[in-house]
Amino acid sequence: MSTRPSPAQIADLAIIGGGPAGATLALVAARHGFETVLVDARDPTAPTRRDPRNYAIVQGSWHLLEAAGVAETLRPDAQPLNGLEAVDGARHWFGAPSALFTKEDLSGDGPLGYMVEAARLQDALDAAVAGTSGLTRYAPARFAGLSHTPGSAQIVLEDGETVEAALVAGCDGGNSPVRNALGIEIEGRSYGKSVFAADVELERPHGGIARQLFTPEGPFATLPLTGNRANLAWYMKTGAAETLAAMSTAEIEAELNSRFAEFAGPMKLIGEALSYPLVLQIARSMVGERAALVGDAARRINPLAGQGLNLGFKDVAALIEVMIDARQTGLDIGAATTLERYQQWRRFDAAMTALAMDGIDRTFSNDNMIAKPLRGLALLAADRIGPIRRAMARQASADQPGLPKLLRGEAL
Ligand SMILES: Cc1cc2nc3c(=O)[nH]c(=O)nc-3n(C[C@H](O)[C@H](O)[C@H](O)COP(=O)(O)OP(=O)(O)OC[C@H]3O[C@@H](n4cnc5c(N)ncnc54)[C@H](O)[C@@H]3O)c2cc1C
Repeated sequence: MSTRPSPAQIADLAIIGGGPAGATLALVAARHGFETVLVDARDPTAPTRRDPRNYAIVQGSWHLLEAAGVAETLRPDAQPLNGLEAVDGARHWFGAPSALFTKEDLSGDGPLGYMVEAARLQDALDAAVAGTSGLTRYAPARFAGLSHTPGSAQIVLEDGETVEAALVAGCDGGNSPVRNALGIEIEGRSYGKSVFAADVELERPHGGIARQLFTPEGPFATLPLTGNRANLAWYMKTGAAETLAAMSTAEIEAELNSRFAEFAGPMKLIGEALSYPLVLQIARSMVGERAALVGDAARRINPLAGQGLNLGFKDVAALIEVMIDARQTGLDIGAATTLERYQQWRRFDAAMTALAMDGIDRTFSNDNMIAKPLRGLALLAADRIGPIRRAMARQASADQPGLPKLLRGEAL
């Protein structure tokens, strides 16, 4: 006779972590008829702390938010992204080259994507989770451990509650307790750099263009927000970003305007600034026994091109598609073959994107004599050679080969 307590809940899918990746996965899974449990350490009823993070949500990811039923809620506060511009901040004999690609470089209609404030996205997802049938939320509640019996996985929460599911999705962020419980190791490195992030009011109209200035010390970006505001991301050595973020509003404004007013026009700080260290971290496997890693749990990358959460959303769409294919053919959604398909689909793309961001970072942040002219030429080439520019733009579009159906806006 088994001494294991009978589970409080039996589900198809148990998701650990209700951040943007986990909550979106939960909504789409429940809407496609999977009995779903979502466990999140946050208290979704607590007033949302102001969060200076902002996400560049590309078209494909926006389609996923439509499938999750939150896109319309977000639309009034989402800033359409009409173009991306890169400017070389180093001086060259041929001037200051820049590259611009816009929505006209894409084959489809509409903007390249939308800028969405992290707190708005989380609020919209939390509200939708509360109103979705077939979806049970345990929050605040913490994952404590995982075990297996033939045909299912058992989750134990810190309060002793248990959940049994065919498949566990670890959407529990960069430190992923699920990944640790599965014994999956990570590879990567620290960049020795941090991002200073803050919201500002601009005087110059941004026109929905995200602009990035590549300086010898590192890139500085203005990402457009509604109401002619912008989210700033300034990459610097670890220590410098933290020191700047801790300064007074007047000191931060003075520093920003003395360095970047020529590039961005005068800026006025709104709310608090924050800094966070850059790391490259890739899990050695995206799957374990009856478990899949999704979002930051699977990898954390340099946020240079705003791809972090978009990669997480690709994971969500791919996992749902393999689950639905398995169900339609009568297979087990948590079987090793189902999970291997997910891993094969996602791991290469995610690793290549992480390494591409790493390469851009190395090219543009290094001010040695060789890299400097190359940096200018790279930007010139990107501007002048149409196919390269279109390839850059396609990254932002929903018509890339191999993209999961939900990111193309197709039904499953
Ligand atoms: C400080 C900071 C600033 C950033 N700024 C930007 C930005 O401006 N733009 C951008 O594109 N990206 C930014 N990023 C990256 C971006 O936030 C992530 O890519 C994104 O949040 C990943 O979403 P996720 O759902 O995978 O993980 P997370 O957002 O990390 O969510 C993980 C969830 O798991 C839950 N959890 C953790 N442990 C447990 C447990 N034991 N039990 C239950 N639940 C648990 C947490 O409560 C959380 O809700 C930033 C990251 C950081 C750290």
